[in-house]
Amino acid sequence: MKTLDAFYIDGQWVNSLSEKTMPIMNPAKNQQIGIVSLGNSQDVDRAVAAAKTAFATYSKTSKAERLKRLHTLLDITKKRLEDLAQAISMEMGAPITMSREAQADSGVGHLEWFIKAMEQQDERETLPNGDILTREPIGVCGLITPWNWPINQIALKVVPALASGSTCVLKPSEHTPLSAQIYAEIVHEAGYPAGVFNLVYGDGPTVGAALSRHPDVAMMSFTGSTRAGIAVTKDAADTVKRVALELGGKSPNLVFADCDLEARIAEGVAGCFYNTGQSCDAPTRMLVERSCYERALDLAEQAGGAQKVGLPSEEGEHIGPLFDEIQFSRVQKLIQAGIDEGARLLVGGLGKPEGFEEGWYVKPTIFADVTPDMHIARQEIFGPVLVMMPFDSEEEAIQLANDTEYGLAAYIQTGDEVRAERVAGQLRAGGIHINGCDAGYGSPFGGFKQSGNGREGGMFGLEDFQEMKVRPPFKR
Ligand code: NAD
Repeated sequence: MKTLDAFYIDGQWVNSLSEKTMPIMNPAKNQQIGIVSLGNSQDVDRAVAAAKTAFATYSKTSKAERLKRLHTLLDITKKRLEDLAQAISMEMGAPITMSREAQADSGVGHLEWFIKAMEQQDERETLPNGDILTREPIGVCGLITPWNWPINQIALKVVPALASGSTCVLKPSEHTPLSAQIYAEIVHEAGYPAGVFNLVYGDGPTVGAALSRHPDVAMMSFTGSTRAGIAVTKDAADTVKRVALELGGKSPNLVFADCDLEARIAEGVAGCFYNTGQSCDAPTRMLVERSCYERALDLAEQAGGAQKVGLPSEEGEHIGPLFDEIQFSRVQKLIQAGIDEGARLLVGGLGKPEGFEEGWYVKPTIFADVTPDMHIARQEIFGPVLVMMPFDSEEEAIQLANDTEYGLAAYIQTGDEVRAERVAGQLRAGGIHINGCDAGYGSPFGGFKQSGNGREGGMFGLEDFQEMKVRPPFKR
């Protein structure tokens, strides 16, 4: 049992000012593995005060100094990779192979590309009109992250804050504090000055809201549900903070008959089920050209039926449990809604897979003949549930793809490069994946519409944490 009863404030671990605690659960067994203290608004005040004081000096450090420190951070992150992977796997149920190769690895991948971005960026440049532009750190940043990709999101926020010369207060998901604790240890070991990085555990409505409202916080960077993103935006409005939001998704996967159907359908099914369907940019709506729809259903049934479920502690390509009981009930309700609304169940369905009754496991599920008005076609399910629907023309495919309040990612499968370009240009989404190829670390990640605003990663992610200042050239 791990007891996390202290917050990292002003370079030290200090006790919470609140008595509130919460169990840390392992979703594979529905077992308590620890306990975490949940802070209150006074804890936030202490952390913001430390960050504000530290900003006065840290914001004046040179780019060379900050780069050197980031290299140290990189070395220590690599050294602690296995600890991060084990913690993530325990607290949110990602199978250990994936936890190591994708979840924990993202802490290294994003950091390497922020370093490259920083090396390339001119902090001072002369504009075409002769004016001088300088880039400066924005100030104290409030960072709020979710549980589904805990270190990915922490790295995408903490690293650009530190790189830009800003200081920060991180409020990680209260459900995944184990990996956040290790990240704080990594930052501490890297030798950042006291107050530059601070960590407070707590729930959204208390600690998250106190950060969002705090007059000394210049920017909120939030990743999570659209519901909570709206709350952060409203709370930040009175003090006119910059707010960067990475929210939910319901990403379409457009499958044209001219693609390598066997490979692309298998990949589309696996992509939807990856991380047990708990990824914001998962390809959850598979739209298939009618001429190959029946064949695609056969292939999806084979791929879905072959999807292995297993323990997070075991190596392999299987998927693990959902993250908690609330997610489990939500996914069950939506599967029931799909059945009630007349979608055809191709694979999976209600209940837990055989042999996995202890944890929050669900059956990988595929629905065919889904129509755009159904709940399962519109709502972010956040579980391994794929919906499939046919289309008759490219125009209809684009119309169906864009018929969502979200716009995080979109996937295109076609053998025709001209079509890929044409369709990509008309999809309202921040990231386009084509024939199984994804954008890498360093590319901007973010959404259109209610999937958020701002971009994370690489140069664009760094710029999100900077202010620009202009002045004319000096004249006597
Ligand atoms: P959530 O919104 O419940 O929680 C996310 C974070 O917000 C947590 O730290 C939580 O404590 C905090 N929070 C909750 N209410 C708040 C409030 N009123 N004020 C301030 N903070 C508050 O989301 P979740 O269940 O942890 O994560 C799943 C969601 O995150 C999904 O919708 C998913 O699509 C989204 N997500 C998006 C991205 C992206 O980059 N676009 C990445 C990962 C997850």
